[in-house]
Amino acid sequence: MKILLASSNEHKRHELQSLLKDHEILLPQDLNLSFSCVEDGTTFISNALIKAKALYEVVKQNNLDYPVLADDSGLIVPALPDLLGVRTARFGAKDENHLLSAEEKNALLIKMLEGKEKKAYFVCAMALIKGEHNIYCVEDSTEGYILDIETGKGGFGYDPVFYCKEAHSPMALLSEEEKNLFSHRGKAARSILKLL
Ligand code: IMP
Repeated sequence: MKILLASSNEHKRHELQSLLKDHEILLPQDLNLSFSCVEDGTTFISNALIKAKALYEVVKQNNLDYPVLADDSGLIVPALPDLLGVRTARFGAKDENHLLSAEEKNALLIKMLEGKEKKAYFVCAMALIKGEHNIYCVEDSTEGYILDIETGKGGFGYDPVFYCKEAHSPMALLSEEEKNLFSHRGKAARSILKLL
């Protein structure tokens, strides 16, 4: 099945393509489509739905018939309530136009957690729209804690500072296949696979 992903991010396409192997992941730009939306939901599920619905409208307007998939993910650190979660990508930024680099965010996170509880979760929500009234949402997570120093070069974003409990390893030391087995995104994608 061809599935249209509500993202312009090639990295996301690559990750989801390896998770949904029997399907073909298309990005809007592959079909000369574009969509826009304001991700102002207060939960990962609501943001995934906002993105999926915005792209589904564009698909309908163009008389196309593709299932649309959107994901929204982030990190939750209970010791820093309200700073991460749906705002994970904007952590430490003074506004939307001045986002910190992954290295800066990781250094800030380590510093802010000095002397605090290091518990953390990655969460991934996915919304799949197969038809006007055929909508599925899934959310899954992986538990761990924030390391005191960056460890490993794999993955992206917060991976170098996240120790994954289920994998008994820092996330950035896992191979792509190993990360997919234990990660929030891998688990959510396997639920979507069943729905497809
Ligand atoms: P988005 O869902 O792509 O918008 O990601 C939100 C934020 O969470 C970004 O800052 C990502 O770097 C971070 N993030 C999401 N998933 C992961 C992951 O698997 N590893 C590391 N960081 C992640």
